[in-house]
Amino acid sequence: MIIVLFLIFTFFIAINKSTESLAALQFNPPTATAYNGSIGMVSFGFDHAFANQLLAVNSMAKYNFAGTIYVIVTKIDKNGFMTQQNLTNLYNMGWEIASHSMTHTKISDPTSDATLRYEIVNSKEMLIAKGFCVAGYVSPYDKITSKSSTYIKSNYNYTFVPVNKQNTLYTITNDGAKYGFPLVLHHMSVGNTRVINNFDTAKKQIDSAIANKTWLLMNFHGIDYTANGYSTKPELFTQILDYVKQKYDAGQLTVATQAGGLGYCNGNSNNLVQKNNNCGGAESCSENSNNVVQLNEDCSGTFSCDSNNNNIVEVSDGSVEILDTPVTP
Ligand SMILES: [Zn+2]
Repeated sequence: MIIVLFLIFTFFIAINKSTESLAALQFNPPTATAYNGSIGMVSFGFDHAFANQLLAVNSMAKYNFAGTIYVIVTKIDKNGFMTQQNLTNLYNMGWEIASHSMTHTKISDPTSDATLRYEIVNSKEMLIAKGFCVAGYVSPYDKITSKSSTYIKSNYNYTFVPVNKQNTLYTITNDGAKYGFPLVLHHMSVGNTRVINNFDTAKKQIDSAIANKTWLLMNFHGIDYTANGYSTKPELFTQILDYVKQKYDAGQLTVATQAGGLGYCNGNSNNLVQKNNNCGGAESCSENSNNVVQLNEDCSGTFSCDSNNNNIVEVSDGSVEILDTPVTP
């Protein structure tokens, strides 16, 4: 009898354990959505979808934070890289999947249209076929040519331009102008020899995002113990994450995916970077033609639009420009 009771007891413990781990997996995303310049924001990006990023990614998920994975499509399921299942699990927890091309080819001016189409357009199509909403394109080696920009802007909602600085509403809508991009982001690279290479440099940027209400995108490569200049030690990642969590809990910053920060792919059908709520809602703002930038004409598929079929970004008045103060290094 005692043995039977003991067995029943251990059975219930086991059930409880598995319910606990299931509950831990349920993603309850922070309510933060589009960046609007009223509070600092932090995003975590993971370059190349390396398998060694999974521990870091999981510790973010435990805090209910979601980040962005830059996937090289032909590397999915390959040794050393995340699997399709990894990506699907993350996506289902609110993570963003962005394209980092098909093969990570370094492009140059003579690169053929066929190659550009393959790397930029086909990579997106394949990610969509795998079930992901895809808003962003991350150019390998930060290399953008005028020809590649044509493919990027007609297929994606946003891309990166290569300067290590934080984002403001002004930079988001203006810094891509020389490539003809209506919407761009800057990231800050983290790694042994990168611009953020220890806790102090990370903390300075996070504090700056809080103080200036800017949007800091930290871009991680390998999370490992190698001396590779692009690698970050797991302990440093944890230290950075815990600091962000502390500031998030204190209500000093928000955390979002990059697409989420721009209002894409997170159930938010308004593709807006909204400066403020003074217009009584996004759509009434969009009636002010000064505030509207057309991003593209395609409102189908991933290019969700507002009820006026406008992909809008508010740029508007001088106060936006004031936000573009230099970020202290
Ligand atoms: Zn890369």
